[in-house]
Amino acid sequence: MRLAVTNDSAGVAIVTGSAGGIGSAVATTLLEDNPQTRCAAVDLKPGHAESLIGLYGADRVLEVLCDVSQPESVRRAMDEIEKWLTPVRSLVNCAGIQLAGSSVGFPPEDWQKVLDINLSGTFFWCQAAGRHMMDNQGGAIVNLSSVSEFFGWPLRAPYAATKAAVSALTRTLAAEWAHLGIRVNAVAPGFIDTPLAREAIDSGRLSKPAADALHAQLRFGAAAELAEAIAFLLSSRASFITGETLKVDGGLTAKKLDWPPPE
Ligand code: NAD
Repeated sequence: MRLAVTNDSAGVAIVTGSAGGIGSAVATTLLEDNPQTRCAAVDLKPGHAESLIGLYGADRVLEVLCDVSQPESVRRAMDEIEKWLTPVRSLVNCAGIQLAGSSVGFPPEDWQKVLDINLSGTFFWCQAAGRHMMDNQGGAIVNLSSVSEFFGWPLRAPYAATKAAVSALTRTLAAEWAHLGIRVNAVAPGFIDTPLAREAIDSGRLSKPAADALHAQLRFGAAAELAEAIAFLLSSRASFITGETLKVDGGLTAKKLDWPPPE
């Protein structure tokens, strides 16, 4: 049984969806935590990693263009990272989308798109990084689930289904790869203040005060708060944690009653 080597040692951390609210906070936290960490910042559009490269330099940050839903694109991206620097020690799968709509009329192509990015994209990157970690003394992976896997959220059928599947995938890979020194965990965030959540508010699908009140802490989380939890799961301080989905939700799933009472 190997012991996983993780983000406290020198190596590459791959962050998908690194141009997004959570991905950029994760990349920043990992680069700040350990000066020996290099980050492969994976997202769709050219130039997406400019600000990270500006802050930390091109020797510590590699911009990688990749559509996570395409296995060929993931394979090419992984080749590019391995040519840049090894070993890869960490993977955080932040790339994701949310398409909302009534379940009866939900278009099949939109259903497939959410599955391809949120679930298949997570699996393809786990495969690519897992294969590398097996040959290089192990590592740690964190996947992005959501509290929507724990309660019924109207109009979010494919999103919630993919997030529950991400947790199932996480447990399966954790059990399959533990003896190879690879830990696999997930986080289930409550509402985090990012473009994804802001789009839901701006479009009128989500009321900010109502969403605030869902949390026992009566507020959205900051991306940096979630990044701290992810950095912990990647570190050797979490060496006996694998197959877990950690709720980072300000008490959203704990809260059942409206509290405190209105004045
Ligand atoms: P975001 O929209 O800010 O960022 C998502 C990123 O993923 C974007 O940069 C986008 O370009 C990238 N992306 C989308 N499709 C891609 C593809 N095919 N290939 C490569 N990259 C792609 O969203 P966020 O709020 O940072 O969310 C990150 C993850 O956290 C998602 O999986 C989301 O479901 C999950 N999450 C977010 C919240 C929240 O409240 N923000 C809550 C729970 C879970």
